[in-house]
Amino acid sequence: MTYFFETYGCQMNSAESAALDLVCRERGWTVAAEGEGADLVLLNTCSVRQTAETRVMGRIALYAALKKKRKAGGPCLVVAGCMAERLGEGLKKTCPAVDYVMGTSARPVFPLILEAVENARTGVPLQTAEKPAFAFSSSHLEEGQFRSFVPIMHGCNNFCSYCIVPYVRGPEISRDPASILAEIRSLEEHGVREITLLGQNVNSYRWDGSLPREVPSAGPLAFPGLLRLIARELERSPIRWVRFLSANPKDLSPETVAVMAEYPLFCRHLHLPVQHGSNAILAAMNRRYTREQYLDLVRNIRSAMPEISLSTDILTGFPGETAGDLEETLDLMAEIKFLYAYMYHYNPREGTAAYGLPGRIDEKTKRERLGRVIALQKTHTQELLKNRLGRRNRVLVEGISRKNADELITRTERDEMVVVPGEASLTGCFAELTLSSLRGNTFRAKEIQLCPGGL
Ligand code: SF4
Repeated sequence: MTYFFETYGCQMNSAESAALDLVCRERGWTVAAEGEGADLVLLNTCSVRQTAETRVMGRIALYAALKKKRKAGGPCLVVAGCMAERLGEGLKKTCPAVDYVMGTSARPVFPLILEAVENARTGVPLQTAEKPAFAFSSSHLEEGQFRSFVPIMHGCNNFCSYCIVPYVRGPEISRDPASILAEIRSLEEHGVREITLLGQNVNSYRWDGSLPREVPSAGPLAFPGLLRLIARELERSPIRWVRFLSANPKDLSPETVAVMAEYPLFCRHLHLPVQHGSNAILAAMNRRYTREQYLDLVRNIRSAMPEISLSTDILTGFPGETAGDLEETLDLMAEIKFLYAYMYHYNPREGTAAYGLPGRIDEKTKRERLGRVIALQKTHTQELLKNRLGRRNRVLVEGISRKNADELITRTERDEMVVVPGEASLTGCFAELTLSSLRGNTFRAKEIQLCPGGL
């Protein structure tokens, strides 16, 4: 039996597809080169923007046409992820080609779907009397993979007024630390060198259940406690870099900053979505921190880890945003100077609190404001990168450059890309190099030196 996945959206979806991939492989299924000839096609979807859903509807239409054309009926079509959660079984009425709709917490029914396909019983109702509870599970690792996500929490309780995630992912659930450590040990055995702890609101992790023996104190385990536990677990491990994503500024405690600073294992890069620089807009977005609190947080992070690079998300054109609010965002960017930013303008999303807000900004103004934010960010990125020229750096080798087979793509812990001449055999190894020049946002180095043992 063969399967083909199409994954859209965030890293949570990538991690979930990798977990579903493992379920298929453990049943003896093999991955197909494309959806057309597969026995099962799974679309792991995103609902954050309408455009993401429209794109998936296009893919469903394509597979529907394929199923109509093929006498044997074509692949079993499964729609999973946020769009499946949001639209539910109603999606099957709108798109009869869809055989199964599998919401974000419905992964436990996936083996039943595979079984139904194996028995050529596609389309039978699954025996799920109740909505299954979300379960964390391990992901499939590709041969030679040296970097992996480790989901540690799922869902979000924050209800930022523009965001659909809490409605489609449900409330926060944290993963048992014993299961997190077990997955990390398994990744270590499989040659992984860098892990990213993953969650919609990763730093609000909190485990109230039983704790591993290594944890000295009783009581709930919060995010900094988990980081400490992982740092101790990895003291002599070949996993040398740990990142986490996405951190919410309002939940980034001084203790988390202290633990990061204490252990060099935690990469000196932090993605800290600010979204806006105006308190009025932050309040309308229900972000639950102020501009001043965000600036204080950044000051504390930089004083604890002067080498750290920061990146962010910026959302312009929110309903009610004035020209003055935009100036406050530009001003905050100039004060902080992010290494890079994901910048976008507001698009109304049905089902969110902001959908009914008055004061929508017209498209032309939204585009102009976003253009100013992007232009400013470009100058900051260039300035920060130029200041790094001449620095000696540790990098993780990602692989051969697609443009030149004699060159390697590497990345620093600050999330900067460096191209350097080198051999493919260095892929997955830690090495050192000097940042000698800059082309666009990519550094170049003249030579690379392998760290002892590639670690
Ligand atoms: S923290 Fe806000 S933006 Fe992030 S997932 Fe939760 S509701 Fe959405």
